[in-house]
Amino acid sequence: MTAQPLTPYCGRFAPSPSGPLHEGSLVAAMASYLDARAQHGRWLLRIEDIDTPRVVTGADQIILQQLQGLGMHWDDEVLWQSQRLARYQEVFDRLREQNMVYGCICTRQEILAASLPVAPDSHEHPYPGTCRHGIPANRATRAWRLRVPEGIEHFTDRWMGPQQQDVAKEVGDYILKRADKRWAYQLVVLIDDADSQITDVVRGADLLSSTARQRVLQKILGLPLPRTLHVPLACDSQGRKLSKQNHAPAFDLEHPLDTLNRVWAFLGFAPLVANSPDGFWSQAISAWAQRFPLPGP
Ligand code: GLU
Repeated sequence: MTAQPLTPYCGRFAPSPSGPLHEGSLVAAMASYLDARAQHGRWLLRIEDIDTPRVVTGADQIILQQLQGLGMHWDDEVLWQSQRLARYQEVFDRLREQNMVYGCICTRQEILAASLPVAPDSHEHPYPGTCRHGIPANRATRAWRLRVPEGIEHFTDRWMGPQQQDVAKEVGDYILKRADKRWAYQLVVLIDDADSQITDVVRGADLLSSTARQRVLQKILGLPLPRTLHVPLACDSQGRKLSKQNHAPAFDLEHPLDTLNRVWAFLGFAPLVANSPDGFWSQAISAWAQRFPLPGP
């Protein structure tokens, strides 16, 4: 029997530059950095700057400085999504040629009126497939949607455990190109991950519910399926997700060890005694490697 070549671990952190990083976003950054370094893997940085209404000028540079200030050094060149629009178009065109996408004229109100929420207490309505078989000649296409195949998507998240979702029923045909003509996160994230040969996606649990959607599209495009690890979301004292929208402050770089230890404690570990960020990272990497070994083949 010949041994299978090991795929070298490659992780990434993919912040949206809508402001400086706060302790909530640092949880995802720290977990992805530790997981990559614990596996002697590479850790890439990607700036998700194509949702231009949310982009704050200069926030990308602040994020790079913040990471460096904590001793979190990335490998390779930073990738900016705004420089990859032609690549997204190319993949979208391929899907269009395969008749896997279709134009949709529905407004949000029309979708709400035409479908029941996924659960009685939910605001999410699956797309009812109104435009799947064509649109009236007198209406202009607003967004473009993926024809989601039937079936249940199963996967095991390294933190959250076994997951499953019937994407066709619970989400419906979802948007790849938005009504404002911008590419949807659900499309670009997996093109970037595949082109960068990402083996492991480590990010916040708010994106756990996007993973099945992404796997469906990865399978359609014949892309590898990265392992995932979704870390819990840090909340403020009122139980709201720490986020730029909720005005979470930039994390404290004047006391980097205190900042690192607070985020480390949030991830469930006992405080580390270190004299410098480098000292912190070498202890944290060994502790992480023990707690989160990669699953066997
Ligand atoms: N840009 C996303 C965010 O800042 C992360 C996307 C991802 O990790 O897949 O929440």
